[in-house]
Amino acid sequence: MFIEKIKLLKNLKIDESKGEMSIGGVRFLMISPELLCSLQRNLLKIGPVMERMFYDAGKDCGKEFARSVSKVFKIKDKDGFVDMCEKFGTLSGWGKLTIVEKDYDNDRYRINLSNSFLSGAGEKGKKNCYFNAGMLAGSAEIILKKEMDAVETKCASQGHSHCEFLMKPSKEFV
Ligand SMILES: [Zn+2]
Repeated sequence: MFIEKIKLLKNLKIDESKGEMSIGGVRFLMISPELLCSLQRNLLKIGPVMERMFYDAGKDCGKEFARSVSKVFKIKDKDGFVDMCEKFGTLSGWGKLTIVEKDYDNDRYRINLSNSFLSGAGEKGKKNCYFNAGMLAGSAEIILKKEMDAVETKCASQGHSHCEFLMKPSKEFV
């Protein structure tokens, strides 16, 4: 992943006159993961409706991430998408992503995420990584040009060694 690290850093632009950081022309913000964890912990007190809101926010964020990374690294096909998830998700600090099952014909993917920063952000024993599920689905929609959704099937906060997500076309979730 050394080459990707260099490319990612080469495309990272910091405009001091504006106080702005971007990759591939898309603005990024360097924040502590604790900000998202704290937001999630506090907003989940409102009720389960917030789980969907975190998922949707992750999806918007995943679309921006994919637009930026696909522009810089010219990702167009499904192999490129899998590569992008594993390398750039991991390099961006979201945790260690591994695509453990990929069915290109049906666009079904099973993804393992170790060290998810969100796994401890909610109630212990419950799945917590709504934002990450949304990120994966949003990235997939941009690269695969198809409505996609993802669901967390196992979470480290439930005592598993890692989190696991199933991602597939949105129409298969109804
Ligand atoms: Zn999780």
